[in-house]
Amino acid sequence: MTAPNQVKLKPGDTIGILGGGQLGRMLAMAAARLGLRCQVFSPDPDSPAFDVVANATCAEYADVEALELFANDVDVITYEFENVPSASAMILAARRPVLPGREILETTQDRLVEKDFVKRLGIGTAAYADVSSAAALRAAIGKIGLPAVIKTRRFGYDGKGQAIIREGDDPDQVWQDLGTKSAILEAFIPFEREISVIAARSADGQVECFDVTENEHSDHILKISRVPAAIPDALAAQARDVAQRIANALNYVGVLAVEMFVVPEDGGLKLLVNEVAPRVHNSGHWTLDGASISQFEQHIRAIAGWPLGKPVRHGAVTMTNLIGDEINSYQQWLTVPGVTVHLYGKGAPRPGRKMGHVTQVHTQAHVAKVAAPPKPA
Ligand code: AMP
Repeated sequence: MTAPNQVKLKPGDTIGILGGGQLGRMLAMAAARLGLRCQVFSPDPDSPAFDVVANATCAEYADVEALELFANDVDVITYEFENVPSASAMILAARRPVLPGREILETTQDRLVEKDFVKRLGIGTAAYADVSSAAALRAAIGKIGLPAVIKTRRFGYDGKGQAIIREGDDPDQVWQDLGTKSAILEAFIPFEREISVIAARSADGQVECFDVTENEHSDHILKISRVPAAIPDALAAQARDVAQRIANALNYVGVLAVEMFVVPEDGGLKLLVNEVAPRVHNSGHWTLDGASISQFEQHIRAIAGWPLGKPVRHGAVTMTNLIGDEINSYQQWLTVPGVTVHLYGKGAPRPGRKMGHVTQVHTQAHVAKVAAPPKPA
């Protein structure tokens, strides 16, 4: 079998994507532009990614036979979410190259393992402690102080599986409410802003970072990304360096996102890594319309063994998520000058569900156009 780092796809070859959400859909669309086919594996028959590929496997991730058939049909396998069960990844990796590598999932599926990994690289994180009981939580609070954030070690996303603990809260109750056996407690970080770096790394070690993105969350869900982040150039360079060091240390192939807090310290600013996502990321959606190459195409190029692009940004960019009922405003967004609308083709708009996004690229031409006084009648 081809070693994962020696994959060299040619147009017409097939990429297997685990996960059928909007990320898989946008990956498949980017692959199609490069003449590559995709086959999507997802247990959900309503997967939005199924709509844009010729071949789909609708089966559970634990279905060994379906996994084997899927692997036989494709040339390389990637994923759009980090919670791919390790047993499934192992079955697939025995048959086809899985990129980013299977072992990367082990690091990024568990917040404690991930934090330990980042810390070992000498990169700053919030102070944290392993918590596996109510007693351990009390001890961790004693060490880290309050306020603090408790997070389940596994399967947390968009603020799920986490809670802020404040002075006066009952740790026993918090532990019971969290309903897990393994968590970490993190110091609450009074950050000035949240940023992320989307980086692509090729099998031969080339790393290309997109410009640093600034992210605004609402109810723990990403609401708006703005590029460039309003931070000093030196700090932006530092943020890109952090992402590059993480990608290199993981011997990563593909696109990854590193979320960081910008924190005031001694009259200056420092960075703390919050999370590493081993996949394309919501805060990189602006690249579809705002840069010469998108995060999705970079990922496809990286796992295909093709040269990475050197992304050039078209201007200042704002990406706004359409969450839940906000999707109902898409007709208005379609009429806004300079806006690109992306709808994910999902069914019911449940609260908190990411239904689409819109991008505004503020090029000089556009700014000049909208800033010009209206013509006299
Ligand atoms: P996460 O699931 O770790 O990405 O956290 C979701 C969001 O919760 C982050 O984007 C932050 O806005 C907030 N958050 C997470 N951890 C902390 C922390 N240690 N201190 C302050 N805010 C946090």
